[in-house]
Amino acid sequence: MEILTTIQDIREKVSWIKGQGKSIGFVPTMGYLHEGHLTLVKEAKKECDFVILSIFVNPLQFGIGEDFEEYPRDLSRDTELAKGVGVDLIFAPSVKEMYPKGFQSYVDVKKVTEGLCGASRPGHFIGVTTVVNKLLNLTQADKAYFGQKDAQQVAVISTMVRDLNMNVEIIAVPIVREGDGLALSSRNVYLSPTERRAALVLNRSLQRASDAVSGGQREGKQIIEIVNKLIQEEPLAVIDYIELVSYPSLEPLDLIEGQVLLALAVRFGKTRLIDNIIMEVR
Ligand code: AMP
Repeated sequence: MEILTTIQDIREKVSWIKGQGKSIGFVPTMGYLHEGHLTLVKEAKKECDFVILSIFVNPLQFGIGEDFEEYPRDLSRDTELAKGVGVDLIFAPSVKEMYPKGFQSYVDVKKVTEGLCGASRPGHFIGVTTVVNKLLNLTQADKAYFGQKDAQQVAVISTMVRDLNMNVEIIAVPIVREGDGLALSSRNVYLSPTERRAALVLNRSLQRASDAVSGGQREGKQIIEIVNKLIQEEPLAVIDYIELVSYPSLEPLDLIEGQVLLALAVRFGKTRLIDNIIMEVR
């Protein structure tokens, strides 16, 4: 497995791979890999001849006062984990390589970035779409793999790919959770043992909401109230948002119908966690 860090090297490698008629699967990450990331790689391995994993903590998608500096980084640990699941190439550029002096071009997807994390993290999705656009240009991927953990991100990237006629298929992969239900996240390392225990309320409340929907509840407000009440009972939890929207169009809903996304962002101490569930009601 090779590790490349420059635009020139990845370009040359990709054109060589393409020249051999091989399909390319791409998994973009910010590193500090866990089983969620590795599941994306495993999916890519099933469907593509050559799998590229990128590791890049993208400063453009972090707001002022967010955790860009503290974000966990460990390339040698990541390299071993990536090798273990058969990644063919890691692309790990520096910030300077991706955003050299004079950089001034951005990709801005409008409507689907307005709510949820787009509302609580202004500018976040411009950072995401810009870097993913650059990475897709560099990797020339046939398929790119994203986790449903970031459900809004999947909707935003799919919209960008559709609107800009990008020649790549976006594959969404279900959320990978710990045995006790906590969604895997590189940010889980920030949690103290008590905060981690408290964070279990996220999956528990989503499950409770899902049970209510299975039991016939269709009122958006009622569903949100179920989640809100459970999370409020957890003293360490500070709610950023709880939203119920259509999926993947992300429009607010009063009544649940069709495919819906119940998404939440909650702080435990200095750690902001997101989680969600997609439900289908016909
Ligand atoms: P990140 O490194 O956090 O930017 O995540 C890179 C990719 O891995 C994104 O597409 C995420 O949605 C995905 N991912 C992160 N955590 C999980 C998880 N627990 N289950 C599935 N995919 C995940």
